[in-house]
Amino acid sequence: MRATLSVAIATLLSAAVLSTSGHAAAAQPTTRIPDKAMATAAQLRETALASDLGYRITESLTTEVGPRMAGSEADARAVAWAVAKFKELGFDKVWTEPVTFPKWERRSESARVLGVSAQPLHLTALGGSPAGTVEGEVVRFADLAALEAAPAGSLAGKIAFIDYKMERARDGAGYGPGSRVRSKGPSAAIRAGASAYLMRSAGTDSHRNPHTGITRFDEGLTPIPSAALAVPDADQLARLLARGPVKVSVALDCGWDGEYTSANVIGEIRGASKPNEVVVIGGHLDSWDLGTGAIDDGAGVGLTMAAGKLIGNLKQRPARTIRVVAFANEEQGLYGGKAYANAHVGDLHKHQIGAESDFGAGRIYEYSSSAPEHAKQADEQIAQALAPLGIAYVPGKGGPGPDIGPFAEKGLAWARLAQDGSDYFDLHHTPDDTFDKIDPKALAQNVAAYAVFAYLAASAEGSFGSEPKVEAGK
Ligand SMILES: [Zn+2]
Repeated sequence: MRATLSVAIATLLSAAVLSTSGHAAAAQPTTRIPDKAMATAAQLRETALASDLGYRITESLTTEVGPRMAGSEADARAVAWAVAKFKELGFDKVWTEPVTFPKWERRSESARVLGVSAQPLHLTALGGSPAGTVEGEVVRFADLAALEAAPAGSLAGKIAFIDYKMERARDGAGYGPGSRVRSKGPSAAIRAGASAYLMRSAGTDSHRNPHTGITRFDEGLTPIPSAALAVPDADQLARLLARGPVKVSVALDCGWDGEYTSANVIGEIRGASKPNEVVVIGGHLDSWDLGTGAIDDGAGVGLTMAAGKLIGNLKQRPARTIRVVAFANEEQGLYGGKAYANAHVGDLHKHQIGAESDFGAGRIYEYSSSAPEHAKQADEQIAQALAPLGIAYVPGKGGPGPDIGPFAEKGLAWARLAQDGSDYFDLHHTPDDTFDKIDPKALAQNVAAYAVFAYLAASAEGSFGSEPKVEAGK
């Protein structure tokens, strides 16, 4: 009896899986992708590989709009471009959703070594930096920890310089520490009393192109002019410092100027039988102002628009709707991603899964997702359809793309199509981020991967586990 009783209880328990909402939920049926859809995906994959649509869309954005920093006049042109492009491509429904954020402007910037070795230095202001002209002796630190260890006030009237060399990696792992030098360095410099902050660019190239990017100032601190030196200029400054004290003049004219309202631009390819359920793919529409935003992130917008369009061209549409989102202002704080998550939290349960491309135009080499147990079979089917593209299956690895992150935190299922970023940080946030850097064949492989992924996820019978997360204590 006891045995039979405990077996009965065990079966009951296994049938009732505690959902994130804490309520016992019936075991989810296994999600499966019909064989017919798998066959269509194979054809779609070949069609996409042979198409240059993603390349042409990226060319259009980076050429006709060019640099499109959030809040600049080009921001509005980029939004208009995306609306017109979705319509030109024949998306069934196109609309915009407002995204408001503080506006930062860059006007001019320069720096010089003063004294016996007087010469210009190539640099760029970090996003969020205040304006200012500062002359002072430079104090070099090998990394962020070294500057954070500098005693309070020890850099009074001086310029702090972090000369940290970012590492190259296919998965971009070096950007973690590299971007922390950018986001946390200025506050550490202020705590030590510095009047300005310089850093070796968070980049892996050796070109005389400084890498910009957003920085932050901790609450309660008075911001100081903060900029990134081109890698060769960081080396030059380090060599000069090895020879003796160096004085530098830094002159930045930039700063915050009120608020700006841009928009997420959304285009839909309507599903056949479950049109109210959506698969979200996308990239961010904004770029920094130094280059034309080709690898960051014109390629992401171009390849996901093309993937949606190629699915729309199919005789038989998938069950669910393909929703392509061109997110506003990713660079200065994921504003578009956060706005999308807030605007759609109410219909999260209608979102099958989401994936964002925001890591250049290199070939995709890995696929993974947040698929729970009941969706593993469908996830494997997607991986199977991606394998001929040279994409390995690494279940559960990594996380969602930047703009999908905020919605994933609320419960959206995510997928990750990891791109080879071995040379991404040679160009990232520099004047060199231009269309000529994109390999059309590699971009076509991305379009094929996103088209196959989105089509199969939209065709699946069952879910991928998107479910509103109940915030702790609610
Ligand atoms: Zn980006």
